[in-house]
Amino acid sequence: MKTLRTGISNARHVTHYSFGFGNRKLLANLLDARRSDENTSVVFFVDHHFEKNETLADQLPVEQEDLLIFVDTTNEPTTEGIDQLVAQVREKCEQIPCALVGVGGGATLDTAKAAANLLTNGGKAEEYQGWDLVKKPGVYKIAIPTISGTGAEATRTCVMTNKRTGLKLGMNSDYTVYDQVILDPDLTATVPRDQYFWTGMDAYIHCIESLAGHYRNAIGDAFSRQTLALCREVFLSDDMQSPENREKLMVASYLGGGAIASSYVGVVHPFSAGLSVVLGAHHCVANCITMRAMEEFYPKEFNEFWSMVDQQQVHIPKGLCSDLQEEKYELLYDSTVIHEKPLTNALGEQFRRILSPSRTKELFQRM
Ligand code: NAD
Ligand code: ZN
Repeated sequence: MKTLRTGISNARHVTHYSFGFGNRKLLANLLDARRSDENTSVVFFVDHHFEKNETLADQLPVEQEDLLIFVDTTNEPTTEGIDQLVAQVREKCEQIPCALVGVGGGATLDTAKAAANLLTNGGKAEEYQGWDLVKKPGVYKIAIPTISGTGAEATRTCVMTNKRTGLKLGMNSDYTVYDQVILDPDLTATVPRDQYFWTGMDAYIHCIESLAGHYRNAIGDAFSRQTLALCREVFLSDDMQSPENREKLMVASYLGGGAIASSYVGVVHPFSAGLSVVLGAHHCVANCITMRAMEEFYPKEFNEFWSMVDQQQVHIPKGLCSDLQEEKYELLYDSTVIHEKPLTNALGEQFRRILSPSRTKELFQRM
């Protein structure tokens, strides 16, 4: 396959990062540096898991004039849900906050990114779904991931589903990238085992897709290779959730995000998006389900993926699309082939010849 050096030619990365066990304690000082006499309020978006289960929410440096919002991540972000959260911030805060903090997984980190853009740019979330539609920098924002894999802490997008149009697309913009990331592997200790694997494998899948693509970037390739090396160490080991492995996976997630900030994904993500849009499957588990049908596209990685599943004894749902009505297969087809950029990256401009409706149906049935 010919490699084209015409992918993302000028990539934006996170401005500052801090890495280490316990580093969440740095947050107070970072926020103090942003607070001023004129503007002191900070808005925290925290995954709802921390409302009941742990003391993390109590450890956050929330001051009286701040706003703490627990984000319900039962379902993945929607444009409507984000508009409602932004309305809540506007109602509670007298002025645009001096900083936003996202604490959680991809869903919460994306919510904070979208809110930061909307607070300064105005309008509704759906107006910014696409490439480079955000006109002004968002509110200064800090990410604190509590689960590793999506790389949302490092990318230039924030994925949201528009229920009205059926479009699952983020605000792809340099302004969407976090200003500061705090990577503290203490925070991922409580992630349930299957979820840990599904989300962690998002990093692996981004990078196998990226490295097999036509549109490449030498720096993106280097990020991808290192991400894959770390994922192999974690998922082929005896205890993927040991402190050392949680540390490695947090780095892999961050570098994997850096990889997709400078290149594109491939065949897995479009199929996975179909499962999400049509059947409501969450992104990371949908990727793993999709891997059941990816042998012909990624043969070596297909085998490696399933040996990691065996090694970790995790559950990957099966049979989601084995017996659907014809119209559902049509919807699945439409919501897969709509992702032209990654499919062209993986299969070339004639990708529709390879992914005919009948072939696509058969691949979904294999999942
Ligand atoms: P998530 O944010 O959807 O959370 C998954 C589950 O893990 C939730 O139930 C949450 O409550 C729980 N959880 C999170 N941290 C926990 C902890 N420390 N202990 C116990 N439970 C915890 O998870 P995700 O897989 O990281 O994110 C998926 C989302 O990320 C999707 O919406 C997807 O579209 C998005 N995504 C974004 C990008 C990007 O570049 N912006 C890339 C890939 C995926
Ligand atoms: Zn992904």
